[in-house]
Amino acid sequence: MEDETEQTFKLFYLWLYSQKMVGEVGREHKGWLELAELFVFADKRGAPKLKNRIIDEIVARNIQLRIVPVTVVPYVYANTLESSPLRKLLVDLVAWDIDVQSSNVFDTPQSYTKDYLFDLVRAVDERPSPRNPTNAPYHKNICSYHEHDEEAGKTK
Ligand SMILES: [Zn+2]
Repeated sequence: MEDETEQTFKLFYLWLYSQKMVGEVGREHKGWLELAELFVFADKRGAPKLKNRIIDEIVARNIQLRIVPVTVVPYVYANTLESSPLRKLLVDLVAWDIDVQSSNVFDTPQSYTKDYLFDLVRAVDERPSPRNPTNAPYHKNICSYHEHDEEAGKTK
């Protein structure tokens, strides 16, 4: 498949054999697209543990770096289904943080696809009020973005 680069394969096999994740928390914001590509790859191959791990990585980076990876929105919306937890996370990160951290979400307006903006408006509308960032769903219940194998129980 043309969109699956050699790099993505490498990262996938690295994860399979060592459970290592791409890059490390705190290292710039390089690698967002790699993470998104790896997520899509894991999605196609039915590797939920890897998808969960990527969700965790994005939230951890968000906490540490105060960055929302909006530049990957067009890629993610083109390559995932409506129900994708990665879509939900990218929406909720902005919905909950948009006026808290102010800056980088406005840097790349071309990142906001129509579908994404629609999801964002809905998510903003559904936020409880008054809003407290520590009540964000990705802090309170990260498992709502995970896929857990019922047989294996919680994989977190
Ligand atoms: Zn979980």
